[in-house]
Amino acid sequence: MKRADLLVILAHPDDETLHCGGLLHRAARNGEVTVTVTLTRGGAGRTLGMCTTGELPSVREQELRRAAEALGIGCAEVHDLPDGGLSAHEETGTALISDALRRWRPRRVVGFPPNGMNGHPDHRAAHRIAVAALRAYDGHPQVLLMTSAVPYTEPARPGFMDPEQVEAERLSPTLSMQVSDSLAAKLRAMGHYETQARSVAKFLRLYPERFYSEAFHQIGG
Ligand SMILES: [Zn+2]
Repeated sequence: MKRADLLVILAHPDDETLHCGGLLHRAARNGEVTVTVTLTRGGAGRTLGMCTTGELPSVREQELRRAAEALGIGCAEVHDLPDGGLSAHEETGTALISDALRRWRPRRVVGFPPNGMNGHPDHRAAHRIAVAALRAYDGHPQVLLMTSAVPYTEPARPGFMDPEQVEAERLSPTLSMQVSDSLAAKLRAMGHYETQARSVAKFLRLYPERFYSEAFHQIGG
């Protein structure tokens, strides 16, 4: 198997596009081998009446496959841990990510930050899973955590981290990327998430800057 240049660890279909679609697209365009590992199939999202709740995981997986194609992602691996309940399955998640690290031997790994970007419990669990798997891995990839250069301003949501805490824990960017040249690909990828149109619309409204600019925080050497 080819070695991955970039491996991204995610919780839900759409995380790759919203949080680091430009980074992924740029890497692919530069001929790099890009891999995403998504731990859930997003079964807890809205259906907007487009399918049944039972059909949602496979619909969202298809949306992810189309978005991955738009971004030029070389391999989009999807697992089936419970959306909304990832924190109860961190051991399994860590084993899945450890396996992906061993198979792909990535030069660079990207994951969620401790605050999960928006305090989402699955995103925060995905951070802990990534850290645990990287600790147990004997390779030495460069590790970047996703972050935002713009403040977090959303209201409190049940089950999510307190918004003030999300903002207090927002990592300072050590790498800010202008990704305007990937904007069309990102928008196309986003357009594939029809069932998630409401959250995509909210993201567009709250964080337009994050479409053409992405921020990361490098940890370790
Ligand atoms: Zn998510």
